[in-house]
Amino acid sequence: MVVAIVAQELQKWHHCILWSSHLDATKKLHGLSSYDFSKIEAGRMDLETTDFDLRQVVENVGALFAERTYQKGLELIAAIAPDVPTALRGDPFRLGQVLTNLVGNAIKFTERGEVALNVRLLARENDSATLQILVKDTGIGIAPEHQARLFKPFSQADTSTTRKYGGTGLGLAISKRLVEMMGGQIEIASRVGVGSAFSFTLQFALGSPDALTQTIAAASLRGVRVLIVDDNATNRTVLHHQVIAWGMLPQSASNAVAALEKLRAAAASEPFDVALLDMEMPDLDGVGLARAVRADPALGAIKLILLTSVGRLGGDQTAQKLGLDAALVKPVRQSELYDCLITVLGVAMAEGDAASAASPRATKEEGKGVRVLLVEDNVVNQQVAVYMLEARGYRVDVMANGREALDALERATYDLVLMDCQMPVMDGFETTAHIRQREGAARHTPIIALTAHALRGERDKCIAAGMDDYLAKPITPDALYATLRRWIRSGARGEPAPENIPPLAPPDASEEEPILDPKVLASFRQLQEPGEPDIIAQLIALFLSELPTKVAALRHAIEQNDASRLAKAAHTLKGSSANMGARRAAHACLELEQLGKAGDLTGVGDLFARLEQELARAQQALEQMR
Ligand code: ADP
Repeated sequence: MVVAIVAQELQKWHHCILWSSHLDATKKLHGLSSYDFSKIEAGRMDLETTDFDLRQVVENVGALFAERTYQKGLELIAAIAPDVPTALRGDPFRLGQVLTNLVGNAIKFTERGEVALNVRLLARENDSATLQILVKDTGIGIAPEHQARLFKPFSQADTSTTRKYGGTGLGLAISKRLVEMMGGQIEIASRVGVGSAFSFTLQFALGSPDALTQTIAAASLRGVRVLIVDDNATNRTVLHHQVIAWGMLPQSASNAVAALEKLRAAAASEPFDVALLDMEMPDLDGVGLARAVRADPALGAIKLILLTSVGRLGGDQTAQKLGLDAALVKPVRQSELYDCLITVLGVAMAEGDAASAASPRATKEEGKGVRVLLVEDNVVNQQVAVYMLEARGYRVDVMANGREALDALERATYDLVLMDCQMPVMDGFETTAHIRQREGAARHTPIIALTAHALRGERDKCIAAGMDDYLAKPITPDALYATLRRWIRSGARGEPAPENIPPLAPPDASEEEPILDPKVLASFRQLQEPGEPDIIAQLIALFLSELPTKVAALRHAIEQNDASRLAKAAHTLKGSSANMGARRAAHACLELEQLGKAGDLTGVGDLFARLEQELARAQQALEQMR
């Protein structure tokens, strides 16, 4: 009897082995023949420790039960909170087994409503994360007097359960044991007639991001406006988090009427690019809503993606005939949704590209799918670099100091970091040290130093700090692209460029320099896209609007006799001026910076007066160019 039950139970577990793609399935199936319940009971079963993708484990559970939830008319929601790191180390197979059992039970004992599998972050340490995993249903619930013994082998809530639902009473016992082996405790909260929630907390070591099924390069989804239409609030939240992570701009509606209102209201000013329509909604369902959208010429261009349960679009009800651009089966995997959005929206982008093939957009391919983190505190420099990067299709996120950069690197994976050296809060050297320490041997993100010091040896200092290469400011498009190509093409380990010093002539030559070097601003011309606001005019406006504050900061530092503040303020203004090609002003800043660094402010008044003069001349020249 017991043997038969164990065999039946094993068959249940067998099922989840088939979908476990992390491990060699044959090996596991083979191992199963010697699978021994008593071994688990005695705690003599070994756990595996391997890099895995939590998202894949969770999505596999969702996929496994998609059909069954649909048949029962339930909503199955599998969600990982956006701040949960998903590259982990542990035993994905055993974790999958526990989730399979809990979700399987939840579906089995729920007749209407929803089953949710949620993962959230409780604590984040340097090299580990503590996660809470919760499986919740709106099912029959479990009476308090039965709750305590549920986890004992062969126990069921009551005998009528066995008659009605079958089962072995082993699943929870095994799950409890496995969770304990992984260092956690299963807890239950339940009310009869309301539902049950099983939860446990586990600490995982952080794994290598290489184990992630996909590193999402969201270049093409950024700024895309999406309307999420679903009557289920949890589903809306899950989708909302997913699309936000890709840089999309979401809004939601809880029914078809509200959705139509939002679509129409937006149509005149900022129309939505795409809508995600849930199929099962009261009143008007997803297909009905799609029909209404297609019947309204004002909403013509929007892409429609239907999220539906298995088998709902049967027969000749193809997505195309229904006026849809795509249909996805729920629960939708994040990777599927992403691919679908790219495909559906990609058509439009390809057409746009063909139309402007002769424009600089043609070169946008170069950076496509490449994610760059720019760490730079100077707003003008930021803008210049962003223009350059976006002109070649790179996706760029900007952080203003090292601390922010470290946070950003925890949230996402970047292909390359452009790192200013001097920044408030945490400078580029210290930030790089933290990044390298975190990465260890598991990963090596190329870090390119952006340094304003036209000094020999600066490059070596950057390399010694763990950076890979060096770009002297003001950066030029050609130098930037060449460096990016070198590091991104060659993978994580390229060769640093030879010392490319110095863009600024020695200070004593400054009198012969032009007030404005026209070549510098002219180099931004190539970034200009047809029909878009004039890049050079924008940069000049940005520089001029910042100028009074920057000069005031300098003046204040001088009045306070604060040498280090002076050095910093002069350094920032030097960067901005150099980006405009205002070389003489940049030189005056450099000299002020050097004074500040030396801590000796003798002669600072004269120098500041000279700077003000140079700035006034540069300003005049810039205004003429606008
Ligand atoms: P079984 O194979 O019988 O499902 P389990 O150990 O997985 O064995 O579950 C033991 C018992 O706990 C079930 O028979 C059922 O009475 C109760 N149970 C488990 N999960 C739930 C749930 N989500 N809702 C209601 N009852 C549940």
